[in-house]
Amino acid sequence: MSLDYGSLLLAIGFSGVCLAITMFGSWLTMRKEGLLLKWAVSALLIVFYVFLYAAYVAAPNLLLLAIGLTALQASFAILFGAARQFRTNNFPRKTVVLSAAVAIGACLVPLAFGYDGLALIAENAAATLLLLATAREYWKGRREMPALLLALAALYAVTALSFLLCGVVLAMDGRLVLGAAPNNWAENLSLIVVTACLTGIGALSLTLNQTRLTRRHRLEAFTDSLTGLPNRRALFERFHAPIGEQTAVIVFDLDNFKSINDAHGHAAGDDVLRVFARILASDRRPLDVPARLGGEEFALVLTGIKPEKAFKIAEHIRSALAHTVIPAETSALYCTVSAGIAFGSKDGAPFDRVLNAADQELYSAKRAGRNRIATTGQRQAS
Ligand code: GH3
Ligand code: MG
Ligand code: MG
Repeated sequence: MSLDYGSLLLAIGFSGVCLAITMFGSWLTMRKEGLLLKWAVSALLIVFYVFLYAAYVAAPNLLLLAIGLTALQASFAILFGAARQFRTNNFPRKTVVLSAAVAIGACLVPLAFGYDGLALIAENAAATLLLLATAREYWKGRREMPALLLALAALYAVTALSFLLCGVVLAMDGRLVLGAAPNNWAENLSLIVVTACLTGIGALSLTLNQTRLTRRHRLEAFTDSLTGLPNRRALFERFHAPIGEQTAVIVFDLDNFKSINDAHGHAAGDDVLRVFARILASDRRPLDVPARLGGEEFALVLTGIKPEKAFKIAEHIRSALAHTVIPAETSALYCTVSAGIAFGSKDGAPFDRVLNAADQELYSAKRAGRNRIATTGQRQAS
């Protein structure tokens, strides 16, 4: 089959333009998503390279080649930086600039002396390394979304291999000066691979960004913004099935909290809520679920626990808060908490019913004088 070089380049160019427009458009609607802008810029640089290279194929000119190779290496360096940012949340600006400078230098120095063959070998080597480094970033971050990230890593690796192949074929040919665009089976294969992979990479990158956004929004909807604890909704979602007798639900309510707000201000009240949330969440076992139910009410659900142990844990939390000095603007303040404990049943009890039972116990702790714990299970003196 004879391949029309120009048509293939045009296909890559169009695919790149569409990708860049989609990514840039998405970025305009969510400016915080810096990755989209970096991907859009990379796609535009690749398109720029493709059109320059197409012009170079038609009429070889070293200046066109030099500008094109610069755009291509810059694009791959940004793609690598974006992949690192995706994994670590940090765009490695220095590494990107340095790797782009080295890659561009490796292409331009031989070109400056008229060695276009050598420059193209360097171009393929640098592109291979940058694309493999990008694939490695997605591979390393694969735990977050295995199928998507493995597919993306694979597409980058395949693209890298196609550049490697072009470099090897040119190196084996051994000509340092070509005077025209190389035209061999590896170049044609690479064009097909790059066209397919670029489209796949673009689609997967957009999906990746969207999936992460959806997950972030979901997490936000299930998290209390003041304390960072799971909220009431998250708790009900987590315990949608009936709970057994080995599961304890402890409801905490800060004592006389309104008077703390009145005396020290709302901001100091918020500090108290954060301090208590920290106490509630610290030293927990992996399956324990602390949550903020709303206002100054919190819950702790303990699974696989005996009544005495649940009581001890609640007591430990009560005592820890009572002994904590909370700095406030006017004077340091203390706060206490009351709690009620209830348990699931042998045959399983709906979570909301157990929560209500714990609430009833909480009210009896309040009535008994606050700063204490009441339980439907084994009672112990506090
Ligand atoms: P009790 O010991 O009976 O529980 O008395 P209390 O004052 O703690 O209970 P009450 O229900 O009368 O008051 C709860 C207060 O909690 C009233 C409300 O302004 C305050 N509150 C609710 N959410 C927040 C919040 O997010 N931040 C602050 N600072 N205060 C809050
Ligand atoms: Mg309350
Ligand atoms: Mg209260």
